[in-house]
Amino acid sequence: FAQASLKQVDSVCPFCGVGCQLRYHVDQNDRIAHVEGIDGPANEGRLCVKGRFGFDYAHSPERLTRPLIRRADAPKDPTAIERRDWKELFREASWDEALDAAAAGFRAALTATAARGRASPVAGFGSAKGTNEEAYLFQKLVRTAFGTHNVDHCTRLCHASSVAALMEGLGSAVVSNPLRDVAHADLVLLIGANPAQNHPVGATWIKNAVRAGTRLVLADPRRTELARHAWRYLGFAPGSDVALLNAMLQVIVSEGLTDPAYVAAHTRDFDTIKAHVAAFTPEAMAPVCGIEPEVIREVARAFATAKSAMILWGMGVSQHAHGTENARALIALSLITGQIGRPGTGLHPLRGQNNVQGASDAGLIPMVLPDYARVGDVAARERAEALWHLAPGTLGTEPGLTVVEIIDAAYRGDITAMLIQGENPAMSDPDATHAREALAGLGHLVVQDIFLTETAALADVVLPATAWPEKTGSVTNTDRCVQLGRKAVGSPGEARADAWITEQLAVRLGLGWGYGIAADGSGSGDGAQGIGAVYEEMRALMPSISGLSWPRLWREGAVTYPVRDEQDPGQPVVFTDGFPMPEGRARLVPAALVPPAEEPDAQYPLVLITGRQLEHWHTGSMTRRSQVLDAIEPSPVVSLHPATAERLGLRAGALARVSSRRGAIALPVRIDDGMPPDTAFIPFAYAEAAANLLTNPALDPLGKIAELKYCAVDVRPA
Ligand code: SF4
Repeated sequence: FAQASLKQVDSVCPFCGVGCQLRYHVDQNDRIAHVEGIDGPANEGRLCVKGRFGFDYAHSPERLTRPLIRRADAPKDPTAIERRDWKELFREASWDEALDAAAAGFRAALTATAARGRASPVAGFGSAKGTNEEAYLFQKLVRTAFGTHNVDHCTRLCHASSVAALMEGLGSAVVSNPLRDVAHADLVLLIGANPAQNHPVGATWIKNAVRAGTRLVLADPRRTELARHAWRYLGFAPGSDVALLNAMLQVIVSEGLTDPAYVAAHTRDFDTIKAHVAAFTPEAMAPVCGIEPEVIREVARAFATAKSAMILWGMGVSQHAHGTENARALIALSLITGQIGRPGTGLHPLRGQNNVQGASDAGLIPMVLPDYARVGDVAARERAEALWHLAPGTLGTEPGLTVVEIIDAAYRGDITAMLIQGENPAMSDPDATHAREALAGLGHLVVQDIFLTETAALADVVLPATAWPEKTGSVTNTDRCVQLGRKAVGSPGEARADAWITEQLAVRLGLGWGYGIAADGSGSGDGAQGIGAVYEEMRALMPSISGLSWPRLWREGAVTYPVRDEQDPGQPVVFTDGFPMPEGRARLVPAALVPPAEEPDAQYPLVLITGRQLEHWHTGSMTRRSQVLDAIEPSPVVSLHPATAERLGLRAGALARVSSRRGAIALPVRIDDGMPPDTAFIPFAYAEAAANLLTNPALDPLGKIAELKYCAVDVRPA
């Protein structure tokens, strides 16, 4: 391999939030020959199977290489969108023609609505798979050209409820400690997460910590791989997180295991929590969560009395209609025991996509501007308006719509035009039939992507974008570490960088942007123009990275924010001396025990949990076009406990029909004795058996996240 490579380029893995650094080896045909891990702060040379083998999607013959405009005789059929040949639906166009058509459609939608005096009918979904600069430009375009805060991205379906609870309780939603801090923890509570599949290099750090003496408590309805390494495994009933966590809080409070000095100095409303959890005794909660009272007591005591205890959680916690309640209980657990603000302690919601942290920081959220400045904050709006050369009062004062709300508004006809950059809501949104009908019903849909995704198949204009190894830009991992992704190879055909596309659209929509972004995704280290100039403008709005200039990032390659000046090395552990809240005190908020929005019944007697697999990433658009990864996991499966499968008359490999109130799919059975009884697990990466045709769009009222981890289904032989 090494002999075949002509050049080597250091960059960052495009998949999960761990943010492993890697080296692309590029051959004489300008193709990636192989990938190796290098010594990044998150991975120290390690890579998982996705990072090591999931690169050839960039060279797939299915890449989009020319702009496409929908044929007049190609109806948008939301029932037949999987893997369509683009020639059936679109004709090729020049970039000028496609960009003009894209801009004209948005102008027409805005003009029609303005004439009726209504709110902006346009919305945008940006991407957690692009760079920070691309996310920043995207939200700026939506807010300035479309006059709306209707801009969101997949964070809404990921940790929006965690963010809501963290903002409410701590005044900040960032992780308090880096993932590798597990090495300093005496005890790690890992709940509702499966890092061995979804953050695999992170899982290796957990395993190393366990080997060195850390006690791991794994709490998850599925007995996943890390259970083998756990000191205690708590297989609680799906959806009963608050019952388990409030019972732990009750034990800690009633047995005097809190940290009174920490509670007095750094929190408020302890008496409210104390009164609230009194009724949640382990005996009362055991029938709800399925964990024996003595086990709850043992784990609660171990957590509270550990010298340092850290909480990691994933979407098993967040993707519920009561996700905010779940996170509130975890925050209280950390605060009342003083297990935060030191190495080996704290709260770490494991971010999913490689840049979901950075895209959120950059303002790709309907209720905040960059660095989480609320849109209702007059001073924050004035700063943005000044920097963006807008007249005072241009930016709206009310938050925009969130992902599922935008889809609902499109379905109703209140949103008539959308710009989607690198997201695939036709696969990722709950109740996908509804989402697909909403997208198909839009008067104008423009999609930027590298493949003709299930969403792009419903577009009016498709703009071919560069893949991750084809562009330069910054990206922020789950640890708040800003890293530099570097362009390694050229892009196919006429594919162009997303940031260039955004700038071209902005110019056509009358904005006087002049960053001079390179169409080929390249960048240089001076920060004077192009993608570096975008970063420097973004930095001016973001105190968290004020000390991290583009030239410094170019030199150092990875710096953890907050970073206040050029000499500041960054701050891996935060909340060391309080919280960004009134008087510096965190707020303890009681967690209510709320049942799932849809319970099993006679017609739909099983619980469905959706999620990811080790080899496939989210909607599968990249990993299913990576030969090694797709060879390992080539087809969809529904995992069932052996006893459940036997009762249903299903064997391994048999075709099952899984149906919910919203849809039905057919897929083979996989037997998994780690599954809880009467529960099914389906990954959402497979268009031919899209799990989200089944899921429930019920929303958490605060985080506006859908209940992707729980709905009622029927499973039977197909
Ligand atoms: Fe990439 Fe995540 Fe695997 Fe690291 S752990 S190689 S970032 S997918």
